[in-house]
Amino acid sequence: MNKQRHTAIALFSGGLDSILACRVVAEQGVKVKAIKFVTPFFDYDLLTTTARYQKKIRDKYDIDVEVRDITDPYLRMLHDPPHGYGKHFNPCIDCKILMISEAKKLMADYHASFIITGEVVGQRPMSQRKDTLRVIERDSGTDSLLLRPLCTQCQKPTAVELAGIIDREKLPGISGRGRAPQRELAAKFGITDYPNAAGGCVLTDKNLALRIQGYYRETTEINKEDIRFLLAGRQFRLPHGGWLAMGRDEEENNKVARLRQSGDVILRLSDRPGPTALLRHSRHGEDIRLSAALLVRYGKKIPGAPPDVGVTVTEDQTETMVYSPALPDDQVATLAAL
Ligand code: SF4
Repeated sequence: MNKQRHTAIALFSGGLDSILACRVVAEQGVKVKAIKFVTPFFDYDLLTTTARYQKKIRDKYDIDVEVRDITDPYLRMLHDPPHGYGKHFNPCIDCKILMISEAKKLMADYHASFIITGEVVGQRPMSQRKDTLRVIERDSGTDSLLLRPLCTQCQKPTAVELAGIIDREKLPGISGRGRAPQRELAAKFGITDYPNAAGGCVLTDKNLALRIQGYYRETTEINKEDIRFLLAGRQFRLPHGGWLAMGRDEEENNKVARLRQSGDVILRLSDRPGPTALLRHSRHGEDIRLSAALLVRYGKKIPGAPPDVGVTVTEDQTETMVYSPALPDDQVATLAAL
């Protein structure tokens, strides 16, 4: 059998384990198509920088990667993940099941024979226990299609091994939490510059996870744009249903402005540096007044200037100016969201 004719789809987190999984399989003559799945909870910005990301991954690791958005099924799954949540609002087992299921759907497009992941048995308490790895295979319907090349010895032979496409004896037998074997393998491939252990999923962040969880409790129709909004900057809840997201630095100010949707109100200080804020779900006068006062509170203070500061309020195409003093700190505290 000609190995060059076989293709594997790889779940690619961008962490070292997924890099190595791709490389050890490619080393056996298999073409590897890496897929980087994104949602607003992790790596969503890659959707706007895909070409740059692909080049970086190709140049650094010799891996061909594609970025795919799985937000819609992910948001549905997060309502009630069958295998529950981890320490925070992270549904790691169902997240893996979902990603592998989505990868399976892509197999026909790429004429792929199997799927690989960088999972290592024993590395993570929730999603990489031996029994959990079995559950992930079973529930993603990839029983004999899924190869975990870094720890192949922990699973029964896959169809691709039985067909002689992959030789398990040539794969590394890594297990447990230690990182030394991965570092050694990386050095063997000449890979020295790689990210630290995967991070960056906001569902594992204590405060952001609580914020998302609260939103899920009070909402049945989960909306992608609202999730992105919820994760932006400093957050406030206003008495008439308004949500306010306020940037904390220039980058966040730009991000907040980019998140603007039809119906949103955008607020900026008119004559001094300060945050950009986006008001959603309300155009009530009181919510706009409080938003302006919050903006002044976090804007630049100018000694000796009058207490009322101009705030430009943009609704649709219409700009109006309101003047407001800074909201006192005790009131700020009552409006601050997690
Ligand atoms: S940490 Fe986040 S991205 Fe990683 S498996 Fe868990 S839920 Fe999925």
